[in-house]
Amino acid sequence: MQFKNVIGQQDIKNRLIASIQDERVSHAHLFLGNDGSGNLALALAYVQYLLCHSPTENDSCGTCPSCLKVTKLQHPDLHFSYPFFSKQSGGSVSDEFLPEWREAVNKSPYFDLNYWRDALTAENKQLLITTKEATNILHKLKLKAFEGKYKFVIIWRPEMMRTEASNKLLKIIEEPPEKTIFILVAESQENIIQTILSRTQITKIPAIDDRDFVEALMQKYPDVKEDEAISLMHYNNKNFFGACQFLEGGNEMELYHSLFSDWMRKCYMADTAALMKFSDEMHKSGREKIKQFLVYSLNMVRQCIVGNYTDGALMRLSKGEAAFAQKFAQFINNRNIEGISAEINQAHADISRNIYGKLVLFDLSIKMIKLIKS
Ligand SMILES: [Zn+2]
Repeated sequence: MQFKNVIGQQDIKNRLIASIQDERVSHAHLFLGNDGSGNLALALAYVQYLLCHSPTENDSCGTCPSCLKVTKLQHPDLHFSYPFFSKQSGGSVSDEFLPEWREAVNKSPYFDLNYWRDALTAENKQLLITTKEATNILHKLKLKAFEGKYKFVIIWRPEMMRTEASNKLLKIIEEPPEKTIFILVAESQENIIQTILSRTQITKIPAIDDRDFVEALMQKYPDVKEDEAISLMHYNNKNFFGACQFLEGGNEMELYHSLFSDWMRKCYMADTAALMKFSDEMHKSGREKIKQFLVYSLNMVRQCIVGNYTDGALMRLSKGEAAFAQKFAQFINNRNIEGISAEINQAHADISRNIYGKLVLFDLSIKMIKLIKS
């Protein structure tokens, strides 16, 4: 990851680069930022810059053997640790999940814990950084740096480290072997033990700036329009990965698609009993799922309008969705699109404010009955 590929965060980049140029490289960092802020991306760019064979004034070269190895997450002096679940009774170490880790980071270093849980197919299992894993880190650090430069340990989500594991790493974080650098990448400092916190240099990473977010999204998906990019940013709480996931669809999208078409059919039939049941079932699936469903619904409705004006040419939909949208589009028009969008937006805001999901959805359904008939 080169700095130039990290979205926005110019102030942080400048600060990190300046600290390297002034030879103020701390041996223990804490990159603190929300999911999607790019804290892991920044950690990777920082490591790549320090390991690069021919760095420029403000970035790694991106092409030297070291850069290529960092990019593939296969550099022998770059170690990772992250939460996982134990596969066997004696406990596992994070290396056993390295293929999944590489795949997730290669897809996007902006992924969040939910995505990681799915990638591990961990379901309800508890993810942890175990004591055995801490021992494993200590073992790796006994080896000399292969390429003689720095040696790095990136610990993603240290807040999920067992206290015993934290205590085990305490001394080495305080006094690491020469040229060994720890980078803790965390969302919250609450569950990190104070003794570790006090030994790290904390870099607070804010959410990606609105302008940078929207531009990056439009650059990655050239047919996304500005207003669509802006609403995706808000819906996903400025989580870039969430916005990309949404645009790229996937299995979840099929589920939302069938829920949406089912919902709209019930609204069209004005079947309030069925809509009450629907609201109740959605409520049980949890707040985040409802929010995603609403984002999905809003997008479908907008795509119908796009479809109406362009003969379907610009619709970003799967085949199944497009077939549904073609039939459904006749109910969406210039008279009701604004009202529908406003109501879905309002429902999303209400769910975010923790208003009872079942009521919000049922209320929205009743409004939709009227709106799609206008
Ligand atoms: Zn390089």
